[in-house]
Amino acid sequence: MERQSAEVAVIGAGVIGLSVALRLAAEGREVVVIDPEPPGSGASYGNAGVVADYAVLPVGTPAVLASLPRLMFDRTSPLALRGAAIPALAPWLLRFLRQSLPAPARRNAAALAGLLGPAVAAWEAMAEEVGGTDLLRPSGSLYAYESAASMQATARELAWRRDLGVAIEMLGPAEAAALEPRLPPLAGAAHFPQTRALADPGLMLSLVAEAAAERGATFLRAGAERLVRSAGGVTVEGTGLRLHARRAVVAAGAHARSLARSAGDRIPLETERGYHLEWDMAVPPLGRPVCPVARGFYLCPMAGRLRAAGTVELGGLSAPPSPHRLALIERGARAIFPDLPAPARSWMGFRPSLPDSLPAVGPSRGGAEVIHAFGHGHIGMTLAPLTAEAVADMVADRPPRPEFGPCAPARFG
Ligand SMILES: Cc1cc2nc3c(=O)[nH]c(=O)nc-3n(C[C@H](O)[C@H](O)[C@H](O)COP(=O)(O)OP(=O)(O)OC[C@H]3O[C@@H](n4cnc5c(N)ncnc54)[C@H](O)[C@@H]3O)c2cc1C
Repeated sequence: MERQSAEVAVIGAGVIGLSVALRLAAEGREVVVIDPEPPGSGASYGNAGVVADYAVLPVGTPAVLASLPRLMFDRTSPLALRGAAIPALAPWLLRFLRQSLPAPARRNAAALAGLLGPAVAAWEAMAEEVGGTDLLRPSGSLYAYESAASMQATARELAWRRDLGVAIEMLGPAEAAALEPRLPPLAGAAHFPQTRALADPGLMLSLVAEAAAERGATFLRAGAERLVRSAGGVTVEGTGLRLHARRAVVAAGAHARSLARSAGDRIPLETERGYHLEWDMAVPPLGRPVCPVARGFYLCPMAGRLRAAGTVELGGLSAPPSPHRLALIERGARAIFPDLPAPARSWMGFRPSLPDSLPAVGPSRGGAEVIHAFGHGHIGMTLAPLTAEAVADMVADRPPRPEFGPCAPARFG
């Protein structure tokens, strides 16, 4: 047993927990971050590192609904469903299907647009605070269309994004080639000029962890197993762990469901597994993250390497990685850059996903001594600094931010 009490216990040291810890410590609060793994080693380590201001559309939309059967059962599609996981996933899938209908999808998109508007500015502020400005590149990002058909297929989605305030420049083949000369000829591209890209998500997170520690946060290597409400707060319990806090913030990413349950909340959290492959190289062949849209992954120029990250696999937390998914990404990357050598390393991570593509950020239904901050799905990197500000307001009992209203955990009843 190490510590026995703290003002705030933050459970989980991913991008969400670390950003929350930094914000709270900067406000002078006594913070203990609890995680059995080193900080920043979960989903937050291996993602595409895009501060995706344009990600205003939920995963579930009418267009996705229409193509779901084809996407799920075609082994070459960027979306896969592991057969063995179907029974456990069924309740989540049903909710996801309902959220993909026109009215809920429109509502979720509007909520996402409200959340994402200030995301780039919030990242710039956090990067500066931790000395990581150089790692946050103002590069923009690109949706690359390899065929006129794939461009046409997403025209309505792009118009929807634009209606929600996203800045988009449509590029013809020559303009796309001028921006990214190493790409093969394209039918066209959509350029998101305001997007920022993390040159090294892992390194950025180590800076956030260090800055939190410099401001007084401490780190406990332990796994939380349950939350027990007690006089004046909550006790976080686990093997060799019993820590009493005035407030506990659940930021355990895809692993948060049972902790939330112990606090009295049934939150339909599942995981969308994603993968990456990396090739070490001094100068990657791209100037910005590029998503060959039909392939469902990003090619990201990062410090000293090219990372191909993405695809979605509904397959739960315990099954081993699927070699087939990695092979799919490798094949796709080679279709773009035929001269790539064998990849240097591969990775699988767990997006924490809720059926409406909105995170659960807010007090537990059982009482505000437990605050949830998980379920950020595809945009946890993007939303981390804003989530941290919203949580800091809750801990300080300041008025809630209206844009986080749709994220209330209580929406799941
Ligand atoms: C392939 C891929 C590409 C992506 N690309 C992007 C992108 O470009 N832009 C973007 O914004 N997002 C992206 N994402 C999503 C993003 O990575 C996630 O939304 C985000 O990392 C979630 O952060 P988190 O802190 O909630 O979870 P995590 O980073 O997974 O952290 C959770 C932490 O909780 C800890 N934990 C778990 N259980 C317990 C417990 N019982 N007790 C204590 N600690 C516990 C874990 O060890 C872990 O450290 C991508 C994801 C993937 C998989």
